[in-house]
Amino acid sequence: MNSLSAPVAAPLWSVRAHLVHGVLTALGAVLFLAGTAVVANEKVYADQEPGLAVATVGVVLGGAAGLLLLVHGRRRVAVRRDQSLSPIPAAPGVTGATSRTRPARTRSADPAGFVAGEGLVHFHRRDCSMAEGRRWPVTDRAGHERAGRRPCGVCRP
Ligand SMILES: [Zn+2]
Repeated sequence: MNSLSAPVAAPLWSVRAHLVHGVLTALGAVLFLAGTAVVANEKVYADQEPGLAVATVGVVLGGAAGLLLLVHGRRRVAVRRDQSLSPIPAAPGVTGATSRTRPARTRSADPAGFVAGEGLVHFHRRDCSMAEGRRWPVTDRAGHERAGRRPCGVCRP
């Protein structure tokens, strides 16, 4: 392969995510078909209820499988976005940070503090995409840790 070719991105969904989705979807389809087969020849609603319940569980399971796949994909997109928006060093002689400039990703104290929403489990750098547009209070690392919060996996404060 040519060393100048663009790097090949890893698939958005892992094999495990596809397997979980496939198994849950197949199980949901089996439950739906079994449930509808049970009620096919029943003429009284009371006799249809068990089959309808099984079919409903199948539909919910299939929907949950799609939702899990969507959530997994969104997490991967967030990680890729963070990786592709890596820090851009400021030009010599330029003071002040731009919105695309971030401090080095070290576990040092941030004099500006970190932000988190009330009742949430992660705290973020103030420029984290997960905190964008929110008016969360600023607190130091120790304050967030006392509140039981952990560092965000995207901005890694
Ligand atoms: Zn964050």
